Amino acid sequence: MRNAPITRNATRITLTGPDLANFVAGAPDQRVKLFVPREGRPAPRLALEGQTWREAWERIPEADRPHQRTFTVRAHRSEPVEIDIDFALHSPGGPASRWARSARVGDPIDLLGPTAERNGGYSFEPPSGRHLLLVGDQAALPAIGSIVESLPADARGDVFVEVTTAADRQDLVTPPGVRVRWLYPDDDGHTKCRLLSAVQGTDLPADRGYAWIAGEAGRVRALRRHLVHERGMDRRSIAFMGYWRVGHTEDTAHARVPERQLAQ
Ligand SMILES: Cc1cc2nc3c(=O)[nH]c(=O)nc-3n(C[C@H](O)[C@H](O)[C@H](O)COP(=O)(O)OP(=O)(O)OC[C@H]3O[C@@H](n4cnc5c(N)ncnc54)[C@H](O)[C@@H]3O)c2cc1C
Repeated sequence: MRNAPITRNATRITLTGPDLANFVAGAPDQRVKLFVPREGRPAPRLALEGQTWREAWERIPEADRPHQRTFTVRAHRSEPVEIDIDFALHSPGGPASRWARSARVGDPIDLLGPTAERNGGYSFEPPSGRHLLLVGDQAALPAIGSIVESLPADARGDVFVEVTTAADRQDLVTPPGVRVRWLYPDDDGHTKCRLLSAVQGTDLPADRGYAWIAGEAGRVRALRRHLVHERGMDRRSIAFMGYWRVGHTEDTAHARVPERQLAQ
């Protein structure tokens, strides 16, 4: 394992290990699960033999049970076998971002990933030749970086990325027909969405193209609503993923609201 800072608020963890040789990515935004050790506790290994990962995870005593978090494979190599995961070092931090800030060579972590291409753990599936609109924040930047690097030389599109500061821009390798624009949050933090106003102001082709949107869940919803209701984009041409949610950890972000709360 290596830990190399990329920009002010992002770091790249490179994972190694013999089991990673079986890893297969289905698409450039392939997601994996990381089991982040609890602070101050040893990192227990998930014993998968004969049980699902969830059963294995639930069998670990609660005090030692690692946090499950979802990340994107930024790159993977076969010789030597390595997987890069880029972490947004957000504030307030959570277990995953805190772990990434301080991880050192040799620190163990479990990764659950696919061993077959058709694995359902990705969203970027554009019809070929369509104009691309890629929109995301600092958590989505690893997927966006991986997607643009995978595009054919004749790809066309617009990319909007909101990063924490100007010092968080990265050099992305893109085909000449793909333009990247960097945005930064306003002083009022989460209340304004720069990405939405940038997308509102951008031209779309007559067939509306294909959009991939990821980032804070509420903003992603607003972007999708805009594309569908105000720009007439076909819902099936939009891949959208809430990568995180203001005020929620990954443990609570997907929890269902009890019905009685909805009724009040
Ligand atoms: C399919 C998928 C792929 C993802 N890929 C990546 C990736 O490659 N790199 C990456 O950095 N993230 C990625 N994420 C997002 C990441 O899983 C979340 O940000 C996760 O919440 C981080 O865990 P944590 O333990 O650091 O924070 P948590 O314990 O989950 O949250 C702690 C606090 O931080 C806030 N928070 C969480 N994430 C952010 C953020 N990004 N910015 C600002 N505040 C935040 C929460 O609202 C909460 O208040 C991905 C998510 C999904 C669903």
